Amino acid sequence: MRLATIRTDTGTAAVRIAGADAIEMGAPDVGTLLTDPGWSARAEGADGARHPSEAIDYAPLVPAPGKIICVGLNYRNHILEMGRELPEHPTLFAKYSSSLIGARDDIILPRVSSQTDWEAELAVVIGSSARHVAVDDALGAIAGYSVCNDVSVRDWQNRTLQWLQGKTFEATTPLGPVLVTLDESSGIDGFELTCEVDGELVQKATTSDLVFGPAALVSYISDIFTLEPGDVIATGTPGGVGHARTPPRYLDDGNVVVTRIEGIGECRNTCRREPT
Ligand code: ZN
Repeated sequence: MRLATIRTDTGTAAVRIAGADAIEMGAPDVGTLLTDPGWSARAEGADGARHPSEAIDYAPLVPAPGKIICVGLNYRNHILEMGRELPEHPTLFAKYSSSLIGARDDIILPRVSSQTDWEAELAVVIGSSARHVAVDDALGAIAGYSVCNDVSVRDWQNRTLQWLQGKTFEATTPLGPVLVTLDESSGIDGFELTCEVDGELVQKATTSDLVFGPAALVSYISDIFTLEPGDVIATGTPGGVGHARTPPRYLDDGNVVVTRIEGIGECRNTCRREPT
């Protein structure tokens, strides 16, 4: 199933996309839907208001996740090409929901920086509570997958050892357009992930190159705290970011960033500089 959170005249609504129709399910967004243990059957039987799926105005897939956990340095080829050892433990950091935008919304380039960069990533969305789950049981806690871009403000990220201040600027992180539920995408291995800036391919990788895959991450993180329905894990980005180029390259006003995962969908966002 393909689920989304859309903006309507009366607010947001969770929908199931079925061909030309986006059908409402009586929940204001996908995050709220997932808190219903019967969410899957409810989505299956969606029979609310219908909208043309071609004209959807996408809100962030989960507008206000309880937690957004991000993973750094998680693509094997990229780590090895940087001359580093494969990590024993995942690098984790967080962002806040105020950074999230919809799949067609503008990325706001912060006025206090000139070093905003792209990071195409696979997003994992949690579908049921998970605490101390084994790797073998972890897929059971995952609702499905989506696309995000962990747009990063490098000068702020690198001011101190802690990355957070460069990772959670307001209205910078596209999440969506859809949640592809696990039943449809259980073989997430080998999905092609790409990022284009103004039509130029800047990142390309496959999800089978992840050092810590979705199940390993859910298991590891669930030892720290309880993962709850609607929580989001951004699983890290492969090589090809602008900051690592010679000379470095950053996003500019008017650039169009397309973040795509084969079999899931794409976010297409125009960059707009925050007015002074
Ligand atoms: Zn990232």
